[in-house]
Amino acid sequence: MPRICMLICLCFFLIKGNAQSLSKNLFDKYNHYKEQTIKVKRFKHKDIVPLIVKLRSNKDFDISEVGKSIENRTIYQIKYGSGPVKILLWSQMHGNESTATMALFDIFNLLAGSNDDFDDFRKEISSVVTLYFVPMLNPDGAEKWQRRTALEIDMNRDALRLVCPESRILKNLQQKYLPEFGFNLHDQDPRVSAGHSPNLATISFLAPAYNYDLDINDSRIRSMQLIADINGEMQRFIPDQIARYSDDHEPRAFGDNIQKWGTSLVLIESGGYKNDPEKMYIRKLNYVAILSAFNSIAKNIYQQKTIADYEIIPKNNNYHYDLIVRNVSINVNGQSFKADIGISRNEVTSPDFKSNTYRSNIADIGDLSTYFGIEEIDAEGAEIQGNTEKPLALKIGMPATFALSKNGRISSRLKNGFWE
Ligand SMILES: [Zn+2]
Repeated sequence: MPRICMLICLCFFLIKGNAQSLSKNLFDKYNHYKEQTIKVKRFKHKDIVPLIVKLRSNKDFDISEVGKSIENRTIYQIKYGSGPVKILLWSQMHGNESTATMALFDIFNLLAGSNDDFDDFRKEISSVVTLYFVPMLNPDGAEKWQRRTALEIDMNRDALRLVCPESRILKNLQQKYLPEFGFNLHDQDPRVSAGHSPNLATISFLAPAYNYDLDINDSRIRSMQLIADINGEMQRFIPDQIARYSDDHEPRAFGDNIQKWGTSLVLIESGGYKNDPEKMYIRKLNYVAILSAFNSIAKNIYQQKTIADYEIIPKNNNYHYDLIVRNVSINVNGQSFKADIGISRNEVTSPDFKSNTYRSNIADIGDLSTYFGIEEIDAEGAEIQGNTEKPLALKIGMPATFALSKNGRISSRLKNGFWE
């Protein structure tokens, strides 16, 4: 091998090695930077304002007010860095999708740090890129833990009419900075799977399409390359639990339009992870993914990726129930048959919007062999009973409360979707 080629290879592995150790290092040292005042996924605008105000005392950040929500809550922009490559990030345009907002405050703590393993990283980021963060773009929705704004409009269908002031804020920022990259940060149904597989789509990405033909221009290619690179970094933490969100074109959505307006857009959807209902692990994954993306952009690592590297990521699929009880005997009007039961555990928001309970119901009955349960049990030999120890006629939509009996004796009880 000629010497120059060896040198290029060596440089490549050194750069790649650095990037790998960065994401691993970010993951391993996360707890040091985790924003400790945010403990659950339901929090409000008044909980984040003191954290933003605190950043004002750090000279590396420039805090500004970019507008007000319908209910007069201030929406802030947090600027970091002074490099030529501009990156705009916004979270929680849907008020009940807070995972990335939590991660952004963890990221601010990392960026505000010094004299640790990440000094070189900060130096490089701040000299190559300028970051514009807008956390909690829909604070009125967050107040009531609802998707829509106070006008009952889905902001992500308001990119053209711009009826909501929050929508105008986002469009104005994109038009003002014309950033090279944009990050549109959301949460998706936690039951979505990565392809047709037992694996949940813990994180889904999308390089949104800017037209119905799903054409690919230079801007969209950069989105795909960057996603391919982040996917490579994140596979080590959540192997086979990363998917691609549907790329159907939605002409009213912000992602699709911002892609059209020339910013390479990355959609990140936080999905589900077993036994993580508060999404604290997924918050940590967002932190690692977004910071790794900054590194990839600053070092141009993403440019080594191809469209094929992006398309290899499996698509979002819907093949999960929260619980599947398999092979159970069901008795209807004296006739017994065997079936699988799919159960959904649906979160219900408490009246003060701060916590949640569950309302679980029977979502499907029959052959669910093509489906997966986030939790599964094999109830071979057991029969469904009601609490009166009589056979129970199951109906779709009814509460998931029943008992399983074996040889005439109750062996386990399910109450509102959870085992007692
Ligand atoms: Zn959303």
